[in-house]
This record gives sequence, C-alpha cells and structure tokens, in this order.
Amino acid sequence: MTRKIMVAGNWKANKTIAQSVDLANGIKKIAEESTSVDILIAPQFTAIKSVADALAGSAIKIAGQNVLWEVGGAFTGEVAPFMLKDAGCKWAIIGHSERRQYFAETDETVNRRLKIAQKEGLNVIVCVGETLDERMAGKTFEVLDRQIEGAFKDFGRHSLEPVVIAYEPVWAIGTGKTATPEEADEAHANIRKKIGELFGDVKAKTIRILYGGSVNAGNAETLFKCENIDGGLVGGASLKAYDFALIIKAGVQVSG
Ligand code: PEP
Repeated sequence: MTRKIMVAGNWKANKTIAQSVDLANGIKKIAEESTSVDILIAPQFTAIKSVADALAGSAIKIAGQNVLWEVGGAFTGEVAPFMLKDAGCKWAIIGHSERRQYFAETDETVNRRLKIAQKEGLNVIVCVGETLDERMAGKTFEVLDRQIEGAFKDFGRHSLEPVVIAYEPVWAIGTGKTATPEEADEAHANIRKKIGELFGDVKAKTIRILYGGSVNAGNAETLFKCENIDGGLVGGASLKAYDFALIIKAGVQVSG
C-alpha cells in the first residue's frame, strides 16, 4: 500500500515574523516542483498568520506546534484549536518530546489535546519516542506502546480520523545522533503493529509514520527508503530553505 511521503519542518522557538515569511517563501518555490511529497511547516505561533498569508495558494500545510485541550476559554498562555484554524493552520503537532520534557506534557494531556483537535477539525501529528535511558534499559517498545495507547485512549476502533505519527527518539533530537535506519524502521514497525491492534489492519497499513531526530540532507533518503518510514519531522535542518529543500528532494526521489 503506497503512503505519500511527508516532510514536516518544526521551527520551534526560532525566527522573527519577517524571517519566517522569508523561509516560507524559500520553501514555496521548492514545493511547487515537489508535488509527490506532502510538505508541512510549523512556525512559532506569532508568525503563523503571516506565513499562511505568504503561502496562500500553495500546497504547503501549516501546523501549530501545540494546541489547547479545550475549545477555548480561561487557559492563559495556550492556543485554542479555533485560533490555529483562524490563523491558517489545518494541522497541529501534539506531544513533542520538548513539550513532554520541559512543559509537563503527559500521555493523558496528549490524549486530551488529540481528542479536541480532531473534534475541532484539525489534522494532527502525534509525537512519540523513548529517552536514551529507556532505550539502554531495553524499554523502547514498551514506552512506544504506552505512549500510543495513551494518546489514543478512548478512541473507538473506527473513530480515528487521519493522523500522522512521528517517531522521535529523544536522544536523537537536536543532538546530531540519528537512529540507524534499522533502529528507526524497527520502531516504526512496532508502532504500526500497535496501531493494528487498536484500529485494525487497514489503519496499520495506511497510517503515516514519520521519523524525527537529526534528519538532514545526508541521511534523509536512506531513512525514507525504509519500509515503515513515511517521511520526516525535521527540526534544525528545516530552518534553512536550502537544507530543507534537499530533504524534500530526498522524499521526491524515494517517491519515484
Ligand atoms: C524535532 O524537533 O522534531 C526534531 C526532530 O529536531 P532535529 O531535527 O533538530 O533533531
């Protein structure tokens, strides 16, 4: 079953509004020639509207880097689903390891955010991944199973709307250390198996699972060629149009 490759850029807390628009414009040109790949970017919240305006008419998808677990209201510092949509997003990233590590994100809050995002009509990228200690202790699959079960708790077997999962081993994020293609593919296969248990074989075969963790122009193609890897969630290398373009090109190459 063919799954369309997605290359997603997570800009984190980087770039002014003007720099974000410049970067978006740089990627826009590459996107026009790369229609075999889905391209998504997640600018910081204050730049989303300007980036969306700059990308009007482009196929590039825009995501919030997080989303509130309620429709809105008294939640100081949070961004509600309707606000993301209003600014031009159709997507949200949920459960990034930096949220888990620094902002007390848990499997339970990931689940709450995911439920409301789907209810409010946002597509989501749900991030999972083990720490170095967990990998060293041989607990990688146990952790991934727990995170997947937690994220999709109370989702009926037939209720899962299209979601993308990003496997991002915490030890590979922003460290320059990449999981080997074998390590990544094995983890992706395990995630696919768990999705099959929860949602059936069709969903297991069709769900896209991105790899994240120091993806760059040098390793993207090898990773994307793996059976269970359907693209990448890219941090550092998404901050320069040229570097990101090479990763998109790797996706195009693999898509044939
Ligand atoms: C990320 O933040 O999702 C990420 C994978 O970062 P980097 O590519 O810099 O490791």
